[in-house]
Amino acid sequence: LSTIEAVEPRIAEATRSELADQRDSLKLIASENYASLPVLATMGTWLSDKYAEGTVGHRFYAGCQNVDTVESVAAEHARELFGAEYAYVQPHSGIDANLTAYWAILAHHVEMPALEEFGVKNVQALTEADWETLRARFGQQRLLGMSLDAGGHLTHGFRPNVSGKMFHQNHYGTDPETQLLDYDAVAAKAREFKPLILVAGYSAYPRRVNFAKMREIADEVGAVLMVDMAHFAGLVAGKVFTGEEDPIPYAQVVTTTTHKSLRGPRGGMVLATQEYAADVDRGCPLVLGGPLSHVMAAKAVALAEARTKEFQTYAQAVADNAKALAEGLLTRGGKLVTGGTDNHIVLLDVTGYGLTGRQAESALLDAGIVTNRNAVPNDPNGAWYTSGVRLGTPALTSRGFTTSDMDSVAQLIDEVLRSTTPVPTKDGKPGKAKYDLASDVAANSHNVAGGM
Ligand code: PLP
Repeated sequence: LSTIEAVEPRIAEATRSELADQRDSLKLIASENYASLPVLATMGTWLSDKYAEGTVGHRFYAGCQNVDTVESVAAEHARELFGAEYAYVQPHSGIDANLTAYWAILAHHVEMPALEEFGVKNVQALTEADWETLRARFGQQRLLGMSLDAGGHLTHGFRPNVSGKMFHQNHYGTDPETQLLDYDAVAAKAREFKPLILVAGYSAYPRRVNFAKMREIADEVGAVLMVDMAHFAGLVAGKVFTGEEDPIPYAQVVTTTTHKSLRGPRGGMVLATQEYAADVDRGCPLVLGGPLSHVMAAKAVALAEARTKEFQTYAQAVADNAKALAEGLLTRGGKLVTGGTDNHIVLLDVTGYGLTGRQAESALLDAGIVTNRNAVPNDPNGAWYTSGVRLGTPALTSRGFTTSDMDSVAQLIDEVLRSTTPVPTKDGKPGKAKYDLASDVAANSHNVAGGM
């Protein structure tokens, strides 16, 4: 940090301060983790300085032999770890991976007409009437994904997101009673809507998905099954999700981030069957800019780590810890979306504490417990205030927390929320909440803010 300090001390200070924050708090954000030192170190090298647009062996710049090695090794680890026919490791993030995948599927299935059909030599010469003909012929393709409040992601066709504008989008939710995915209802929606792409995967659904059933639905309506495993890739890599819970054998295209439960650098990947490989491979230059060579190198290191027995033990502990956290909250009277978990996420409905998700999030932060507020299905408080907090175990498991530690974490969360009172506002909106440390400490035998 001293070399950074000499150039811009504020950045050195923020970096130092972030380390302290991450060490002194309980990181329960389900999408965060702690990457290993080899992964972090690999990101901080001169590989960052090289431009390498294109793909391995087919670059738009000279001198890419080392980046070719980096990208090939990362892709090889990804293919072997997940048993995928093809892996594309260039996407800079999960959103980029999804955009690359959508574009590849469109390129594969929607044939662009030859300009000669319109009697012109370039696109600029198309008339308004030609464009009308084109629009009528191809229309907007259809995408069916999980709704945001059931746990889907913005990139699964949320209207203001680019995916919601590229596609005519529609959504499936969860059963109003059980809050679980209802495959019959998904199938009914798919039959009615007839999507080109059926997206499975989630950001805030605390249960496993049966991808064999999703593929059956996709096949029945002639859709491509795309699975976004950004959140649970680590559980697939660590062989916790196997058989019908492993998306790779069932989906034609699978996207992921590399920095959540997979514990790698911030980035994304696309895995696909050979059929889609050539289209995905054109991600750069069609959707992405120059790849981040240093990050691809760090992906290779993280994927090598994920191929070890230790990683499998870690992944199992992530799931065991989530179960222990859920049980700890349930025994203290907590209300959980779907009544529990069988992945790495616990979605706590905080309305029973008389709080909104936003109030709970800020009270927990005051006590050194970092979470994020999250909508629950059919959330009465809407997407901004919400009624839930999402809790995830990948990061604490990386720090060595065990199931009995998770019970203590559940106790801390419960105590903090019980010691928190909403502060009324004049405009009738849900205001802030005040966590009262003094009364918590008085009521309970330990110092919550002291952390663990
Ligand atoms: N897909 C899912 C399911 C996610 O949960 C996320 C991140 O929150 C993303 C994609 C986007 O990842 P990124 O933030 O790397 O773009």
